[in-house]
Amino acid sequence: TKSHATHQTCLELADGVTVGGEELLIIGGPCTVESLAQMEQVATRLALGPVQALRGGVFKPRTSPYAFQGMGNAGLTILADIRQRFQKPVVTEVMAIAQIEAVAAHADVLQVGSRNMQNFDLLKALGEVDKPILLKRGLAATIAEFAMAAEYVVSHGNPNVMLCERGIRSFDNYTRNVLDLGAVVALKQITHLPVIVDPSHAAGLRELVPNLAKAAIAAGADGLIIECHPEPEKSVSDARQALSLEEMVALVHSLKPIAEAV
Ligand code: PEP
Ligand code: MN
Repeated sequence: TKSHATHQTCLELADGVTVGGEELLIIGGPCTVESLAQMEQVATRLALGPVQALRGGVFKPRTSPYAFQGMGNAGLTILADIRQRFQKPVVTEVMAIAQIEAVAAHADVLQVGSRNMQNFDLLKALGEVDKPILLKRGLAATIAEFAMAAEYVVSHGNPNVMLCERGIRSFDNYTRNVLDLGAVVALKQITHLPVIVDPSHAAGLRELVPNLAKAAIAAGADGLIIECHPEPEKSVSDARQALSLEEMVALVHSLKPIAEAV
């Protein structure tokens, strides 16, 4: 169990699903929603296991404009269906103010991606939303800039923000990014907001994900968001970092003793 010397905000994502309290929040699912069948396979395997929420992007911030940009509204319909049938909250990214209404109507948590961490107009608009926000750290944002970005949402009326460390850019391109666990420890001290970790985008390599996930929990993270796929190598995006569903379930089970020791 966790103990906190100072006030710690506990957010509710859905009935009985929280982050920042006693329970770890584990969010699992593919980088991108590709089909209803894909999401059914993910949810069927993970909803039975100790995964509290499902993820899947439908508006995708791809580096290349020629790469698949996500299913858009058709993907939201799939998420809404999965959410209803499997009774699990869903997390998906919102890239623009114009998408907020539809995303908020279908998802339980609105993700702001790294590339939008300092899209201040988007952050202000999310301050008016009555759903929790998962704010990812910018590709090259300092800890102070990250904390201030969260302040934009909070000061505009939405106190329900969780922070997500997902790796930052550095000189070494062996891993996709460099997971900054120091930031997790610091953010837990300087903010009262829940802090989760995304080892998938940090590592970019699936074989590094389990141990980074364990390290994040040992460092005091309140949860994890991890990419997994029924057929990892066939993922339309971020295939190299996707775990199989079996690897995902095994990883989540291995976290329990670490969480209990923190
Ligand atoms: C994602 O979660 O799929 C994603 C695009 O993450 P990030 O914004 O951290 O790159
Ligand atoms: Mn991804």
